[in-house]
Amino acid sequence: MTTEPLQKEQGSISVNTENIFPIIKRSLYSDHEIFLRELISNALDATQKLTYLSSKGEFEGELGDLTIRVSIDKEAKTITVSDNGLGMTGEEVRQYINQVAFSGAEEFVKKYSEAKDAKEIIGRFGLGFYSAFMVSSEVEIQTLSFREEAQPVHWTCDGSTSYTLDAGSRTERGTSIILHIDGDSEEFLDSFRLKNILSKYFKFVAFPVALEDEVINPVPPLWKKTPSGLEDKDYLEFYKTLYPFGEDPLFWIHLNIDHPFNLTGILYFPKIKKEIDPNRNRIHLYSRQVFITDEVKDIVPEYLMLLQGVIDSPDIPLNVSRSYLQSDSNVKKISGYITRKVADKLSEIFKEDRAKFEEKWEDISLFIKYGMITDEKFNEKAEKFLLLKSTSGKYYTMDEFRDFTAHAQTDKEENFVVLYTNDEHKQDLYIKTANDKGYEVVIMDGFLDSHLIGHLERKMEKTRWARIDSDTIDKLIPKSDDEDKSTHLNEEQQNSLKSLFQKVIPNELYKYETREMGENQLPVVIIRNEFMRRMQEMNATGGMGGFNFPENLEVMLNTSHASIQKLLETQDETLAQELMDLALLTQDLLKGKDLTAFIQRTVGLLR
Ligand code: ADP
Ligand code: MG
Repeated sequence: MTTEPLQKEQGSISVNTENIFPIIKRSLYSDHEIFLRELISNALDATQKLTYLSSKGEFEGELGDLTIRVSIDKEAKTITVSDNGLGMTGEEVRQYINQVAFSGAEEFVKKYSEAKDAKEIIGRFGLGFYSAFMVSSEVEIQTLSFREEAQPVHWTCDGSTSYTLDAGSRTERGTSIILHIDGDSEEFLDSFRLKNILSKYFKFVAFPVALEDEVINPVPPLWKKTPSGLEDKDYLEFYKTLYPFGEDPLFWIHLNIDHPFNLTGILYFPKIKKEIDPNRNRIHLYSRQVFITDEVKDIVPEYLMLLQGVIDSPDIPLNVSRSYLQSDSNVKKISGYITRKVADKLSEIFKEDRAKFEEKWEDISLFIKYGMITDEKFNEKAEKFLLLKSTSGKYYTMDEFRDFTAHAQTDKEENFVVLYTNDEHKQDLYIKTANDKGYEVVIMDGFLDSHLIGHLERKMEKTRWARIDSDTIDKLIPKSDDEDKSTHLNEEQQNSLKSLFQKVIPNELYKYETREMGENQLPVVIIRNEFMRRMQEMNATGGMGGFNFPENLEVMLNTSHASIQKLLETQDETLAQELMDLALLTQDLLKGKDLTAFIQRTVGLLR
């Protein structure tokens, strides 16, 4: 090791690509701020290495203040990043800056020129020390190694491929990087701007980082602590530091794994309402406590993106393309691990505190359903804690619901029938009719519920889902053939009834049928065939190639009802109209002029 003061030396960095700096500069215009991420990461590394050497007894001096300082000199147009880490000797500068750092830059340029989509690598590629040239016309290093008798070294480079190396002026151990900010990057001389960047990337790093004298990372990273020593309030407070304007989360999972990859973090379950808010707070991805991105799309399955919090892993490759990320086995393992952890946590709450689980159901169900539909592994676990809420206010798991209702709700073909409503209020009459018959009706009015029904039907054998208004009550769950009674009327009588209604309410979409439904049922009942309605719904969401066909409504004339029988004799058109309007009302289909006419007519009749 040289202890002699350095003789001024000039050299040129061994470069094949002459134009490396212009490329670095131009190619990264949208992400210029990452120079700070790179330089401070290096300062953190240098500080970390020194504390490691100290703990091993290989450095015996005082560690002293290890704060990494960023300062701005507006007059001189410089930014200085300074650390009290292990510093470099002249030999090390030659090796690490002229060679190592450069090879990183060279690799970048190579990747950049080869990449089909340059944007892919921008921002994901850790450019290292040379990213300083994105914002600087000249960069200086003043450094003094921790090694005994080391001499301070001064390195300069103006962004061309030549550098100078001579005796430095630094008197204390560590390194200062002095950036002479380029004319078109002067925005970075603004302390407000710099503070924002520092807070974004270094809020949770292990050593203090200060802009001028203000430390930007006073809050320690909670995810690095042992869960057993933490209380609810610690997690809630930490949540506030991540998302100052967020509503308190419902619960959280502390992640900690070191094999077969390294990952720590805290995932929070936010309240997720009926719809997914695109501006929601997102998961932050860190690598060794340095913020990387909140675009975690390729790292966690889509439904997990509804969660919030921090994932910290040095094993997630960040300097590669998206398509690579998707096939990367570490990334796959990581998302598999998170999926399992999340499912286990939900399952744990479900088992240990069913009341709490039910209480929070409304806020977590969208997440669970989304997961079940899109992730097979999650589905396997979630099947056991998916809750169905019935109109009587009870919550059942699928198994419980079957146990509780199978005796009543199994049809003649041994299919278990799940009756559901997608609108408790509009379908109130249908629900009441079903309840009177001893059937339990579940509420499926969520954003994903029609998808979930399809999903569950595919998963579960001999189970059929039927919306409560998809048939008359006796046909919803057909029991035996002999119950399949049509009507005691002869064909002529049936036809006369149908044509009376057709005459009074002429609408091609209404298909009139006669049926013996019992005196307790309404005289006229409108039903919406489950199959036809689902086709219609798929159609509405573009699933049928946009082909639009109107939905036929089946109108059942209850021939066991006295008022229908009366119609046979009287052919009373007003009565027919009244009965039909009542049926339309139960389906919320009576609107506008028709509704007004109904009200006026009824008031008249009451007089
Ligand atoms: P990387 O950090 O990936 O190694 P960089 O281009 O960022 O690549 O840095 C190259 C090398 O320069 C580092 O590995 C380190 O040896 C040295 N170096 C850079 N900054 C510092 C610093 N502040 N203190 C000590 N060494 C440094
Ligand atoms: Mg680096």
